[in-house]
Amino acid sequence: MTITRRIHNFAAGPAVLPVQVLEEIQRDLVSLPGVGMSILEVSHRSAAFEKVLAEAEQSIRTLADVPSNYKVLFLQGGASLQFSMVPMNLLGAGATADYIDCGSWADKAIKEAKKVGAVNVAASTNGENYSRLPRQEELKLTPGAAYVHMTSNNTIEGTEYKTLPAVGDAPLVSDTSSDMFSKPIDVRRHALIYAGAQKNMGPAGVTVVIVREDLVARSQKSLPAMLSYAVHAENGSLYNTPPAFAVYALGLVMTWLIRLGGLPAIAKVNERKAAKLYAEIDRTGFYRGTANNNDRSLMNVTFRLATEDLEKQFVKESTAAGLDGLKGHRSVGGMRASIYNAFPEEGIDELVSFMREFERTHG
Ligand SMILES: *Cc1c(COP(=O)(O)O)cnc(C)c1O
Repeated sequence: MTITRRIHNFAAGPAVLPVQVLEEIQRDLVSLPGVGMSILEVSHRSAAFEKVLAEAEQSIRTLADVPSNYKVLFLQGGASLQFSMVPMNLLGAGATADYIDCGSWADKAIKEAKKVGAVNVAASTNGENYSRLPRQEELKLTPGAAYVHMTSNNTIEGTEYKTLPAVGDAPLVSDTSSDMFSKPIDVRRHALIYAGAQKNMGPAGVTVVIVREDLVARSQKSLPAMLSYAVHAENGSLYNTPPAFAVYALGLVMTWLIRLGGLPAIAKVNERKAAKLYAEIDRTGFYRGTANNNDRSLMNVTFRLATEDLEKQFVKESTAAGLDGLKGHRSVGGMRASIYNAFPEEGIDELVSFMREFERTHG
């Protein structure tokens, strides 16, 4: 078996996965132990797959301390389909949903919700290129709102909520696609949490939805079955064929996290990793962080250099040095280092060394 060298993958998603998980997948790919066939071939109605699904759910419940009155669903269509499913299921006629417009993904969520019902943009930092999160006192919430929608981590702009906004009695819905399970999460303060797996939880193809039962009850019977939380909940995520491989791989990542010590343990590592990188960005002024200091994300670290030519050069030389995927999102430019749970700390150290050397030679 030839193991080719792995480079450091700073991509925003799909993103780096734990090597141990990849090796486990490789080892068991042709024949799952005790099953005798591949996870790629197994029937989703088999006892073997039911076990895989149940274990993935149980691991999520253990990791995030999910209360028993919440459903854990494994869906398809990415976080983007949740932009539609959330209002289709939760935003009844005559009601208004509040949206916090704190990033490019929030903006997309708002556009989809407006196709379904009445939306109030409770606050927006669009005019500041989403470089900061709206402050609590800026939120103009609707009394009796159907729900309040937030984005816990803004993958493109590099901002992240450190504490949840106060929304009174309104159900809080959070798009946690890029920081799910990077730190402890208080599920009880949310009514619905959704996240595409491919940033921090597994491969592309599965979307995790954690939803309180009283919200599931809002789904109207007239909804297309595939778009109904109630249908997926009643069928234990087996209404139709689920993305079996993605669920399996996600389950392995969850087990890896539990073995590491769970969310408090990974949060410590993530804090340390991000702190090293921000310290380098702030060291001399050669690099410039683009997110407001207090709102800086621990998952997506965004920064710029003095000129676009220098940024191009940085991308070129870093890629050549085995530091891949540092080019920022096409909508904002600059650089972005996505350093999710599975991103190794040595990779941060290598990037910091590279940045010092780049500054020395181009500064
Ligand atoms: C990536 C991302 C999305 C879109 O996810 P898809 O699974 O590609 O639909 C939505 N929200 C956030 C915060 C993201 O990071």
